Amino acid sequence: MKAIATVPGTPGARIVERPEPSVSAPDDVKVRVIRVGICGTDREELSGGRSQAPEGQTELVIGHEMFGQVVHHEPNSIKQVVEWTTASPRA
Ligand SMILES: [Zn+2]
Repeated sequence: MKAIATVPGTPGARIVERPEPSVSAPDDVKVRVIRVGICGTDREELSGGRSQAPEGQTELVIGHEMFGQVVHHEPNSIKQVVEWTTASPRA
């Protein structure tokens, strides 16, 4: 799968390939990302940043505000679904 990554402390970003995540815990869900927003934190990371890459890695994958569809979960792991009606999709 594709991701946007930056090297902390340096400006800019690039598209990278990452392994597709798997569901490993009973309360994990797998989400197919449909849309992603860019927020102020992402912009800050792309201009030099303040965060560190995960231990043992040099790059930090950005993007944490997304809209998607749950495509996999363990049976009976979802106890409640909340309908969000305050946002409307763009055409
Ligand atoms: Zn954010």
